[in-house]
Amino acid sequence: MKILITGGAGFIGSHLVDVLINRGDEVFIIDDLSTGSVENIEHHQSNPRFHYFFDTILNRFLLAELIDRADIVFHLAAAVGVKLIVESPVRTIETNVKGTETVLELANRKKKTVVLASTSEVYGKSTSFPFREDADLVLGATDKGRWSYACSKALDEYLALAYWKEKRCPTVIVRLFNTVGPRQTGRYGMVVPRFVSQALGGQPLTVYGEGNQSRCFTWVGDVVHALIQLAVTSEAVGEIFNIGSTNEISIRDLAFLVKEMTGSNSEVAFIPYEQAYEQGFEDMNRRVPALEKVHALIGYTSTIDVRGIIEKVVEDIKARGSSVE
Ligand code: UDP
Repeated sequence: MKILITGGAGFIGSHLVDVLINRGDEVFIIDDLSTGSVENIEHHQSNPRFHYFFDTILNRFLLAELIDRADIVFHLAAAVGVKLIVESPVRTIETNVKGTETVLELANRKKKTVVLASTSEVYGKSTSFPFREDADLVLGATDKGRWSYACSKALDEYLALAYWKEKRCPTVIVRLFNTVGPRQTGRYGMVVPRFVSQALGGQPLTVYGEGNQSRCFTWVGDVVHALIQLAVTSEAVGEIFNIGSTNEISIRDLAFLVKEMTGSNSEVAFIPYEQAYEQGFEDMNRRVPALEKVHALIGYTSTIDVRGIIEKVVEDIKARGSSVE
């Protein structure tokens, strides 16, 4: 098949490229390298089935041409990372809203299937655990920059669903829960590569708040596998799926686990949220996915536990060196 991946040089996108190229597809990527990196895809550059375009998805003419050539579009290009979002809200809203609008509008012209990467962040401060796809979203006030990400992604979801309902352009929505793996950088705030880089570099592991907040970390390989299967499953069209794991761990325990697994002498430092992000920053205490829906449709289960994921991230960061700055 011919596949277009927006954000294909990013962390998740580049893993998707690897799997698709290995199974014989022709892959096109468009990426403005805002958070992606050439290193993530350079091993494919001499492959005649791999085509890369370093440009923004707001370049309509290029995007139109690429979408016309593709059988399936994986739309992964977005502003991501809580740190980046808090620091650059204009970029977050514009990229996530205008970018998705453009992708959907162009895909609709020839009714191309679009798989939209959304986020578990859309559940916001909800406390009805586990989060089911049909549950209410509970977002914070608009003067708290963090929520602009959830809100922009929620709007993307409405739009994708509307393109299916109103115009019969096939769309599938996936809400990704704290995806982790090699090539993810701590630069935009993601906690696992940050802790691993800090531990390996002998710097303090920076736990924000008291560290009681927890997350369910998900192996990138599981995410990529699910994305591909959902893209070719007709019952997935017009539906929303959580993709995550049951690997729930508090951030404090995560810090000590990383310290133990790396044999690091780094201290674990507790940093107030206001200092880490901004005054009035709101975190969510827990975020747990309901996985019944995706399991029932494609047999999805997560395959690697937290230790296994950390091991792979340690290996990767040791091999390529990575700083959190
Ligand atoms: N976090 C932390 N120290 C860091 C980076 C993140 O304690 O250096 C916390 C963050 O406040 C959140 C959790 O780790 O509670 C996961 O953060 P991440 O940005 O990876 O993903 P999120 O779940 O917030 O989207």
